[in-house]
Amino acid sequence: MTVRTCASCKHDTAVSVRDWPSQTSFMGLSSGSGPVGRQDFRCQSCGARFTVRGAAVLRALAGPLVFLPFVGIGGMLLLGGLTSAASEPAYGLGLAAFGGLLAALSVLACMHLVGPLVQTWRNPVAPDAPVPPRRFDDTPPMRRCACGKPAPVTKIVAESTNHIPTGTESTHTCECGREFAVNDVWGLVFMSMVVAIVTVVALFCSDSLFENDATWGAFVLAGGLALLSLGGMIAWVHQVASRFWLHPLVPDAGSQN
Ligand SMILES: [Zn+2]
Ligand SMILES: [Zn+2]
Repeated sequence: MTVRTCASCKHDTAVSVRDWPSQTSFMGLSSGSGPVGRQDFRCQSCGARFTVRGAAVLRALAGPLVFLPFVGIGGMLLLGGLTSAASEPAYGLGLAAFGGLLAALSVLACMHLVGPLVQTWRNPVAPDAPVPPRRFDDTPPMRRCACGKPAPVTKIVAESTNHIPTGTESTHTCECGREFAVNDVWGLVFMSMVVAIVTVVALFCSDSLFENDATWGAFVLAGGLALLSLGGMIAWVHQVASRFWLHPLVPDAGSQN
């Protein structure tokens, strides 16, 4: 078992506490399986938690690089929107708002992906350290079921697309038989990005429908994208409601033995 030096208390007592069952998927649709390459550690002296990337550093860096162009595109849309806001306020401000949102979410994406790399470096492997006695586990906190009882986590799936993590989904099963899934904040951020991009593409496509030479294919494309965008928004609202409203955390459950 790998022991790492804890960055918080400087003791050689941090051990891996979670195996990540991984699957390659996109917005809930499974497309095979592959390694996510991340490990959750917990320090057995102070209880500090951190996540490291087990995969090669180059592959881990590929994730943030994918999102960097979106930071640039978002920034350019923001500037372009602000410039044209004087002559066309609705179009300019709309474009600027979307550009700003895209840039902000992309920056969050880069930070989320670079975080585990920083933790890998801050909490180095302690090669000769003995395995410490187990004081803290990593039982995820329970969430409230629709029936009012606390429901424990029965399954955790870390989703990824081309080795880019796209969120973690925890399934809770209650003793009343109900089952519900809650996404982590990163999953919600990633989903916001996808829904925002699809919505804007749908809006741009529907723009051409008001011209005289609009083709049947253009209607199908715009209609399909609009449906996709609407479906994405409904799923997004449902996931946000599940996490923050329908299934709140139950206080004082889990975390310590
Ligand atoms: Zn510690
Ligand atoms: Zn229940």
